[in-house]
Amino acid sequence: MFNASLKQLSTQLAERKISSVELTKEFLQRIKTLNAEYNAFITVNEALSLAQAQNADQIIAAGQANKLTGIPIAQKDIFCAKDWLTTCGSKMLSNFVSPYDAGVIERFNQIGAVNIGKTNMDEFAMGSSNETSFYGPVRNPWDVAAVPGGSSGGSASAVAARLAPAATGTDTGGSIRQPAALCGISGIKPTYGLVSRYGMIAFASSLDQGGPMAKSAEDLALMLGVMTGFDARDSTSLQRDSEDYTRDLEKPLSGLRIGLPKEYFAKGMSKDVECAVEQALDEYRKLGAEMVEVSLPNSQLSIPVYYVLAPAEASSNLSRFDGVRYGHRAKSYDDLNDMYRKSRAEGFGAEVKRRILIGTYVLSHGYYDAYYIKAQKVRRLITQDFVDAFKQCDIMMGPTSPTVAFNIGEKSSDPIQMYLSDIYTSAASLAGLPGMSVPIGFGDKNRPVGLHIIGNYFKEAQMLNVAHQYQLVTDWHQRLPTGID
Ligand code: GLN
Repeated sequence: MFNASLKQLSTQLAERKISSVELTKEFLQRIKTLNAEYNAFITVNEALSLAQAQNADQIIAAGQANKLTGIPIAQKDIFCAKDWLTTCGSKMLSNFVSPYDAGVIERFNQIGAVNIGKTNMDEFAMGSSNETSFYGPVRNPWDVAAVPGGSSGGSASAVAARLAPAATGTDTGGSIRQPAALCGISGIKPTYGLVSRYGMIAFASSLDQGGPMAKSAEDLALMLGVMTGFDARDSTSLQRDSEDYTRDLEKPLSGLRIGLPKEYFAKGMSKDVECAVEQALDEYRKLGAEMVEVSLPNSQLSIPVYYVLAPAEASSNLSRFDGVRYGHRAKSYDDLNDMYRKSRAEGFGAEVKRRILIGTYVLSHGYYDAYYIKAQKVRRLITQDFVDAFKQCDIMMGPTSPTVAFNIGEKSSDPIQMYLSDIYTSAASLAGLPGMSVPIGFGDKNRPVGLHIIGNYFKEAQMLNVAHQYQLVTDWHQRLPTGID
């Protein structure tokens, strides 16, 4: 059961071969046995999960089940969930039990899915390795010496180790796609605005986007169908009708024009990653796709632009937590300022403090035009590159990450190296485009490699089709880490 697809689980539940309570207990048991090794979950709450499972069994018995009713889903600890500890990987929120549900959580609850636990993550989603979590590093099930990627590393590790059938993640510059690649699973960051950010703790609001992480493109399509949809409580939520993302899965790929951005194939990618990507592209040629060279000349600026804009937005967003924690106790303005200082010193980890510093700097008088405004202008150029390139192709492909998973500790003292983990993913984030990663083989030390698929705006169904057709003729997505059986 623990390795079944969402469709298989749904059928088993509908035919009453298994109950949601039984299924939930099986995953809770797996978490109990294996989580100590991977540290993929921050919070597990058997009572809350089982109550949801009981409720799901009633919905199924009443014949009112939706496809994911009764299925346990791991939720990234960035999503506020009523009565659940919601930490966002931070000491700052280590005692925050959310009084309300995020839009995404609400949607899963509405269809009777089961929250199987809150997954570990980089503090406030800032990181690429999960080493910035206050709750300790997450380990990669393919090799416990390796990082799982970040910031949605707990979700990636949980799915790779089959501690949950599927999970949610969030992606600001690569946080769904890079951990999916490093853990050998599939993940999609939808077009900006498709998934509600209400109750999803903000990092950089113009970039943050929730999305699913799962074993296959088909599973992602089912998850995405639950997660997307207009939410009036999120001012950037798009007013679009909900879609059936499974509708195009079976379409043949003949005639598909795959754009290969020449800048992504130039240098930077390690040999083992390049080899796996070339093999995957060959597979697509066999499926009838044609390759077109395209150019994204400004994409090389995406990391510097991202590291001006994301910290700028983060520093404004994070200052609110000081207020939440201490504001009501202050007796005067000076008193409040002292509390803020103390709160920041004690509550935030080193990486978050670094971001606040950068953010405050680039927004300050005298530097605002030179950094913040200039970065916004380059962001527009990066976006325009994609608009132009999509005139020549239907979809783009390249590596998700320049290397396979690195070792825990290997990059933690070198922020620039760490930031470069998102060299291939951050441009699509800045443009608000959907991006996806699928497993395409193994590189150095037998660690997974991911293929990055970038779609045009709102082309999620097409991207899932393109990934699914590949998964029909390959079995990389079905490989299990040793010891996971
Ligand atoms: N690794 C990037 C960062 O640290 C992106 C993180 C994310 O997408 N949330 O900011």
